[in-house]
Amino acid sequence: MIPASFEYHRPGSVDEVVSLLAELGEEGRVLAGGHSLIPMMKLRLAEPAHLIDLTGVEGLRGIAEVEGAIHIGAMTTQAEIIKSDALAERCPILREAAELIADPQVRALGTIGGNAANGDPGNDIPAVMMAVDAAYVLRGSDGERTVAARDFYQGPFETALAVGEFLTAIRIPAPPAGQGQAYCKLKRKVGDYAIAATAVTLAVDGGVCGQAAVALTNVGITPLYAEAASTALVGTAVDAAAVEAAVEAAVAITDPAADLRGPVEYRRHAAGVMTRRAIETALARAKGG
Ligand SMILES: Cc1cc2nc3c(=O)[nH]c(=O)nc-3n(C[C@H](O)[C@H](O)[C@H](O)COP(=O)(O)OP(=O)(O)OC[C@H]3O[C@@H](n4cnc5c(N)ncnc54)[C@H](O)[C@@H]3O)c2cc1C
Repeated sequence: MIPASFEYHRPGSVDEVVSLLAELGEEGRVLAGGHSLIPMMKLRLAEPAHLIDLTGVEGLRGIAEVEGAIHIGAMTTQAEIIKSDALAERCPILREAAELIADPQVRALGTIGGNAANGDPGNDIPAVMMAVDAAYVLRGSDGERTVAARDFYQGPFETALAVGEFLTAIRIPAPPAGQGQAYCKLKRKVGDYAIAATAVTLAVDGGVCGQAAVALTNVGITPLYAEAASTALVGTAVDAAAVEAAVEAAVAITDPAADLRGPVEYRRHAAGVMTRRAIETALARAKGG
C-alpha cells in the first residue's frame, strides 16, 4: 500500500528537531532508519502528518566512552554496532543481539535509537538495554532528561517519551570486570522477529554471583525486565537450583500472544529455554569460557 500524504522535514541540528517537535505536537513524528515506521505507514497503521528526518542531524551518530559510560548516538545504525570492535570488546551483547536483528539490508539503515524507541515488544534491543541497565537520553523543549531502559516501556508502542521529546543517545554503564553477557533468540528463520529471546548479564566473584540481570523479548506486551529472575541468581553459585529458580521466575512474568510464531504454551516454554541458555552462556563467559 501507499502511505497517506505527509510533510517532510530535514533538520540539521538537535535544536531544530526540538523546535519542530514543539511546533508540530502530536502531528510530528521523527524518522530514523524507517524500517519500522515506513512499513507501518504503508499499512496505514501510522499516519503522521509530518515526518522529521533525523538523518542529517549533527551529533546523533557514533560510539564513544565518556566518563566511564558507553555513549551511543541514537542514529548509529545496527550495522555500525556490529562493526565496532571496541564496542564488542566492552559490551559484547550488543554485537551478539544486533547480528540477530533482521538481515544486513535492514541493519544497514535501521538504527539503535529507532529500535529502542519504537516500543514494539518484538524489537531485540530493548531487552538488551534492560540487561545492561542502560539509560536513554531524551531531549525536548524543557531540556534533557534520562530514563532507565527498565522504566521506559509502558505498553505496546507506548513509551516514556513525551510529546515533543526524542531520543538522542543511549548511555550504558561500563560493564564490571568479570561480567558475562549473552543474548539468545529463537526465531523461525533468518530475518524474523523472536518467538522468544532472553538477554542476560551476570558477574561472578570467587564463585558467587554478585550481579545479574535478565530481560525478555516478544513474550509480553512490552519488553520485560525479569527482576525476580535476576534476584534469584544473586548470591548463589549459579548452580542448577539457582538457574531453575531464575527460569521459573522469568517464565512466570511472560504473557505471549498466540500468533504465527506459535501458541502461548510453546512460546512460554521457548522463553524458558532461551533464559536457561542465556544464563548458562553468560556464566561460562563470566568464567572466561
Ligand atoms: C523485514 C524486517 C525484519 C525485521 N526484523 C527485526 C528483528 O528481528 N528484530 C528487531 O529488533 N527489529 C527488526 N526489524 C525492525 C528494524 O530493526 C527497525 O530498523 C527498527 O525497529 C527501527 O529502527 P529505525 O531506525 O528503522 O526506526 P524508524 O522505523 O525510523 O522508527 C521507528 C519508530 O521509532 C521512532 N523513533 C525512531 N528514532 C527515534 C528517536 N531517535 N527518538 C524517538 N523516537 C524515534 C519513530 O518515530 C517510529 O515511531 C525488522 C524490520 C524489517 C523491515
